[in-house]
Amino acid sequence: MKKIGVLTSGGDAPGMNAAVRAVVRKAIHDGFEIAGVFNGYQGLIQGKIELLQLGSVGDIIQRGGTILRSARSPEFMTEEGRNEAVRQLKAHHIDGLVVIGGDGSFRGAFELVKMGIPCVCVPATIDNDINGTEFTIGFDSALNTVIDAIDKIRDTATSHERTFIIEVMGRDAGDLALWSGLAGGAETILIPEEGYDMDEIVRRLKSGTGRGKKHSIIVVAEGVMSGSALADLLKENAGIETRVSVLGHIQRGGSPSARDRVIASQYGARAVEVLSEGRGGVAIGMQNHKVVDYDLEVVFAPTDHALDMELYKLSKELSI
Ligand code: ADP
Repeated sequence: MKKIGVLTSGGDAPGMNAAVRAVVRKAIHDGFEIAGVFNGYQGLIQGKIELLQLGSVGDIIQRGGTILRSARSPEFMTEEGRNEAVRQLKAHHIDGLVVIGGDGSFRGAFELVKMGIPCVCVPATIDNDINGTEFTIGFDSALNTVIDAIDKIRDTATSHERTFIIEVMGRDAGDLALWSGLAGGAETILIPEEGYDMDEIVRRLKSGTGRGKKHSIIVVAEGVMSGSALADLLKENAGIETRVSVLGHIQRGGSPSARDRVIASQYGARAVEVLSEGRGGVAIGMQNHKVVDYDLEVVFAPTDHALDMELYKLSKELSI
């Protein structure tokens, strides 16, 4: 292993830059050349590859987004596209690749592994939905953005004595809704892992009103239904009027939290170590507060990403 490549792919997440910085600095520290591949797999196919230096990643640890840019690449889903990607890697003498992204990007990396390219995958997505790791880069930052929004909405909910529905991202995972709902003191949290029971939601809202509560916050994960669909259901089923806030893409942006910067630094550095040991087909993650590496195939196992159900139980107990 002499030269390592690094790319960011799929949906961006705060902390991707901190991970790129860690990969570049650790690689150079350990005596490797490091090439940045721009625009994800699409840029790889197009040969958008540049050698990076220590200074190339200066002043980015605090920046959201990704200096390497990200892309979705339908071309990489084809065999011809992937053959061209491998040809580019070989032409640029890249011996191993660090892929920073979500599970789609990991699947792409797995295809490259099957074609003989060692790849190590660093999980970066605000959805926190990757098997085998407790935390992905970007989750904590998005969580803080959501909490900030909940706090602000709570102010106006209190002033106007209203029930607010806040729709948060997360694709099919409820992590962002659960953690933000718990941290933001939401009265009701709806996550795809549990589905919903309209009678229970109405009962909770009414019992709050019954004991003099003037406002209520419902956090709904996009994987359950949209905020407006929930508002319609509440109106039809119980005549309850609500206001809806869809937080949308603000959740994906902004400066990464301290925690995301730290785990991005740890994950990025570990990825370089794994490649330098000559290993590929590996994912990096966190288990029991320790940085770990594990077989990439674990990510694709049919079991769902494990949501912390104890936390869900606690959120219910505390929001009676
Ligand atoms: P994320 O990494 O955030 O989950 P996507 O699912 O969009 O984002 O995946 C990013 C890119 O990874 C896709 O545009 C595609 O180029 C590549 N990719 C995803 N799934 C596969 C697959 N099964 N085989 C090859 N490449 C894939």
